[in-house]
Amino acid sequence: MCLFLTVHLWPSDAPFAERIARAVAAESGLAAHVAERGPSGRAALMISETGHGCACSLLADSADWNAATWDMWPKVLPELAKALHGLDTRCRGGFDLDALWIGDAPRATVTVTVKDLARLVLRGQLGNKIRYRVQRTMPSAK
Ligand SMILES: [Zn+2]
Repeated sequence: MCLFLTVHLWPSDAPFAERIARAVAAESGLAAHVAERGPSGRAALMISETGHGCACSLLADSADWNAATWDMWPKVLPELAKALHGLDTRCRGGFDLDALWIGDAPRATVTVTVKDLARLVLRGQLGNKIRYRVQRTMPSAK
């Protein structure tokens, strides 16, 4: 039983997945592993703490897989917010993020800016079974 925090890349960014993963990991302090084919059939990055293959260690003791949002340890929230900003800077196509308990599927897709999503994360309100579609906010800064 596991939580997976998955970043789905657009095909145009897939060739750069390793580079994106390394940069995001270096900046955020979290680990990012490339999955050539994520659950959505697109290249994906799996976000976790270093040394973990899943995102379970991000979850606080109060986390409940039936709740609407995920309770994560306060320490990891700014790291995850940093990772999101790093992804926004590097993914030309934008990206999708979901935090799903293994076997669950998103109930809804919500389009957000990276600022809004980072704010949600920092408040500890990352949604369960929600796929966040982050549209690129900085069109050509590389
Ligand atoms: Zn796990």
